[in-house]
Amino acid sequence: MHAMSDILSAPLWQEHTAALVLPEHSLPAEADVLIVGAGYTGLSAARETAAAGRATLVLDAGAVGAGCSGRNGGQVAYSIKPSFKTLSSRYGEKRAYAICQEGRAAVAYLRSLAARGDVNCDWRECGCFYGAHTAYHFELMAQEAQQQIQGLEQRITVLPKSQQRQEIASDFYHGGCLYHDDASVDPMRLLVALLRRAQDSGAAVRDHCAVKSLRSSHAGFEVLTSRGIVKARKVLLATNGYSGALSPWHRRRVIPIGSYQIATEPLGADSVLALIPRRRNIVDSRRIVVYFRPSADGERIIFGGRAALAEKDPLACVPRLRAMMTRIFPQLQSVRITHAWVGWVAYTFDTMPHVGQHNGLYYCMGYCGQGVPLAPYLGHRIGQQMAGLEQGRTALDDLPFPSRPYYFGTPWFLAPSVWAYRTMDALGI
Ligand SMILES: Cc1cc2nc3c(=O)[nH]c(=O)nc-3n(C[C@H](O)[C@H](O)[C@H](O)COP(=O)(O)OP(=O)(O)OC[C@H]3O[C@@H](n4cnc5c(N)ncnc54)[C@H](O)[C@@H]3O)c2cc1C
Repeated sequence: MHAMSDILSAPLWQEHTAALVLPEHSLPAEADVLIVGAGYTGLSAARETAAAGRATLVLDAGAVGAGCSGRNGGQVAYSIKPSFKTLSSRYGEKRAYAICQEGRAAVAYLRSLAARGDVNCDWRECGCFYGAHTAYHFELMAQEAQQQIQGLEQRITVLPKSQQRQEIASDFYHGGCLYHDDASVDPMRLLVALLRRAQDSGAAVRDHCAVKSLRSSHAGFEVLTSRGIVKARKVLLATNGYSGALSPWHRRRVIPIGSYQIATEPLGADSVLALIPRRRNIVDSRRIVVYFRPSADGERIIFGGRAALAEKDPLACVPRLRAMMTRIFPQLQSVRITHAWVGWVAYTFDTMPHVGQHNGLYYCMGYCGQGVPLAPYLGHRIGQQMAGLEQGRTALDDLPFPSRPYYFGTPWFLAPSVWAYRTMDALGI
């Protein structure tokens, strides 16, 4: 056994791309647009408003990327959770189709950004192996792959268990599907690129400056921050799973859920390729999903999932995550874990992302663990909306944003739900 004290509780990504430290600058007294949160959403929005000539200020309570954007898994997938059928029953077929197109547009947008010389984020068209946790899940997956909606098709190959070892050196799954259009990025490098783009367009970004309260005024908002008051004509809440007490209305609609990750010690590129021969992303069909992939340098495995009933210190989750990993890869029994970390993913009660305005306050949040493509894309769209540009409109704008009675921002129902889902997963139902 290796000592827990040797494990760094920081994202592996920050080893290669240091956490960003911005130079000290004073806080402007006024802004046309003030954005709360300097993750992918806030920075992408800032790029658009600044490029349209609006004086733009982005504030983050912590470092840039202190939230999920500096600590995610870097997996890029089609990202609208409800099926076309579910969406059609909620919003009608036409809007459902348009919403699904937004999910596709998000991946296409990130692909187009990554193709630019100034957005070097280690974009890889690696594809994803979606492993079936049970034989029944495999049947459902295969059916879905064969019944795609015209115009919304993804390139999918169904792989029965007998061919699974082409993709993963494990017999854990009951076959699965290959999603050829999925990709991966280095999350920290993406963050740095989005920061530079926002700054190059003229946006001012300040870290370690928490927004404490927002007060409506005749000309917009008076924003009380830990470093003084800023007057802003428009304000965007880009706080996702870190949305605290600032806007109680939003807090009642977003469910922060900890997602935990570990990184193995460097295993050598050949050993990693022996486990995941095509360097694909891997996710599985359990309710309590696990996701893993090779690190950006191809030397390690990065493994993530929901490792606790109630939230815990990421170091305390290492034994469980390691056990989950070695059930899939018994070959990794004796490897050392070097990093463990957690971040707060923003779920919503309808599993939809939400973009719009409430009482004059713009918001863009609730990506349900799919924000690597959704946050840059929807961030840029809401930025365009704030700049008054027609092309900023999306099929997601101002959808009903549900809450639940007795929910005020602390998900008391999480531990029993995780327990129930975990039990169903263990029983294979
Ligand atoms: C472990 C983990 C793995 C993940 N893996 C994937 C993946 O593989 N693929 C995928 O698509 N998605 C993944 N995600 C989700 C994805 O990272 C997020 O959806 C995305 O980064 C959200 O970006 P954001 O800019 O909206 O929010 P964040 O990056 O979370 O930024 C919100 C910011 O708001 C700031 N803030 C909050 N309140 C205030 C305030 N009052 N004043 C000032 N600042 C404030 C916070 O400090 C924070 O920096 C993962 C998330 C985690 C945690």
